[in-house]
Amino acid sequence: MDRIDYRSLTREELEDWARDLGLPAFRGRQLFSWVWRPGFQDFSQMTDFPKTLRKMVAEEGMLTELQVLAEQHSVDGTIKFAWGLPDGLVVESVVISARGHKTLCISSQVGCAMGCRFCNTARMGFHRHLVPSEIAGQVLGMLRHIGTGERPTNIVFMGMGEPLANYANVLKSIHILTDDLGLNFSLRRITVSTCGLVPEILRLGRDTDVGLAISLQAPDDKTRSQIMPINLHYPLPRLIEACHSYRLSRRRRITFEYVLLAGINDSLEQAYLLTRLLRGIPSKINLIPYNEGSNPLFKCPPHEHILLFQQVLRDANYSATIRKTRGQDISAACGQLYAELKGRD
Ligand code: SAH
Repeated sequence: MDRIDYRSLTREELEDWARDLGLPAFRGRQLFSWVWRPGFQDFSQMTDFPKTLRKMVAEEGMLTELQVLAEQHSVDGTIKFAWGLPDGLVVESVVISARGHKTLCISSQVGCAMGCRFCNTARMGFHRHLVPSEIAGQVLGMLRHIGTGERPTNIVFMGMGEPLANYANVLKSIHILTDDLGLNFSLRRITVSTCGLVPEILRLGRDTDVGLAISLQAPDDKTRSQIMPINLHYPLPRLIEACHSYRLSRRRRITFEYVLLAGINDSLEQAYLLTRLLRGIPSKINLIPYNEGSNPLFKCPPHEHILLFQQVLRDANYSATIRKTRGQDISAACGQLYAELKGRD
């Protein structure tokens, strides 16, 4: 039987694990708190555990450690990490520093099955889901590597993969990330971004209070289906209905991400349609200038045009910001994460 991966268990699960072994639940809690300390190396450090118990912990289970394969620094301060997973696959995560705070952008899957036409990660195809120790482990790894200075405050599930297609593992990792004995991030500062898996959006709203971002990219089904195959399963009326019923805590809004693709979704008429589509949803719109990549079909509109698009949204009283491209020189910008898997099994 596989050994238990301690970092894939929530505090409650480790308490159950302790009870199952006939130990008091607090031993599980203590173990949980140890394995998420950035300085934790091995079980011999757990000096509040009797020696025999430490030995048992070491024999019963193991720790998943992500290996840093590469750490690239952009001229704008963005840092991209490539992590080697236990089976040799690779995922990436990014530290973005902006306006005095740091945001960690993490991956939820190796590759992605959603097939959005404009996204580099989609070109990798789907390899596998990440488990909680690999999702929250990216955050632990970054906290260890970026060392002193400002502690990151925000986490976005906007790296590789579709988080809501890996629902159970993502939810567990959110519990670990926000547990005060775990990584102690605030739920309010975690955002899950999805291409629009309707049933899981509704589930997420019931299960937790994280921020929700929808990768919208088009205000009409015809355009959206052309660039995002998921739209054929969950067309806009269903997606928008889910947004209306998503439980939002007070003062919170849904973020709508909109990658601007010249000649495809950037007409002013589409901007106007967008204002109609989102009417009544507490929202903020994040316009993302397309990061040009390997697909010559897609181009980024000129900046002046993006400003006109933004103005239509603002005139209709929407909060609409233009995302500043970060880390482009190290391929760390939106939609650029792509791990070279050749030569690995
Ligand atoms: N699968 C999730 C999480 C990935 S987030 C989702 O779809 O939301 C990826 C974000 O990067 C999305 O908002 C997407 O619209 C954006 N993106 C993808 N490719 C891009 C590109 N080439 N340029 C700019 N943004 C891109």
